[in-house]
Amino acid sequence: MRHPENIQKLIDAFMQLPGVGPKTAERYVYHLIRQPKQLSFAMSAAINNVANSITTCNQCHAISQTNPCLICANQARNNGTICVVSDTHDSTAIESLSIFHGRYHILNGSLDPVHGITADKLTINQLVQKLQTDTSIKEVILALNPDIEGETTMSYIKKLLTVFPVKITRLALGLPTGADLEYADPHTLTKALNNRTNV
Ligand SMILES: [Zn+2]
Repeated sequence: MRHPENIQKLIDAFMQLPGVGPKTAERYVYHLIRQPKQLSFAMSAAINNVANSITTCNQCHAISQTNPCLICANQARNNGTICVVSDTHDSTAIESLSIFHGRYHILNGSLDPVHGITADKLTINQLVQKLQTDTSIKEVILALNPDIEGETTMSYIKKLLTVFPVKITRLALGLPTGADLEYADPHTLTKALNNRTNV
C-alpha cells in the first residue's frame, strides 16, 4: 500500500519507537487521522515541548526538566545513600514507591561491549568521582536489571568501588532474571529494595 507522502512521513516517525513496526505505525497514524484534529495538535505540542525543555541533571545525570533535577535540589534527601540505576525511568519507578529517600546516580545505560557500550559511554567515572569527593556517602545500592548487561555492569562497578569505605549492596533476588526494573510491580520492587544484600 502506498500512502500519501505526508502520511508516510508520520508512519516512518512512529516506526522509530521501540516495538513499533510498519503495521502498528500505520494503525496509529490512521487512528490519529480519524480523531478530532485537536488530539494531533495536542500530541505534537507535547512532543515539541519535551524536545525544547528537556535537559540532563549534572549531578545525577537524570533526564529532567530542571538542572539540578528536583531530587538533587531537595535538601531533605539523605546524602548517605546513592542508588545507581541504568536509566531515568528506573529511578522514576523506585521514586514512585516513596520508600527511598537517598540520592540517585543514573548510568545512562548498561555495559554492552558487543554493541559498543563501553564504560566510557556511561557515567561510571562520574560515580567514582562522587565517591572521591563526597565522604558522606555510606552506601551505594546497585539497582540494575538482573540481566547479562546489568550483572556485568554491577560487577564492574563493584570492583571500582571496593577501594572506598562504603557498603555496596544490590537489590534482593525476587526480581525475575532478565526482568526490566521499570516494569516490576511495586510490591516486588519494594521487597527487592528493602531486602537488598551486600555484594
Ligand atoms: Zn539530579
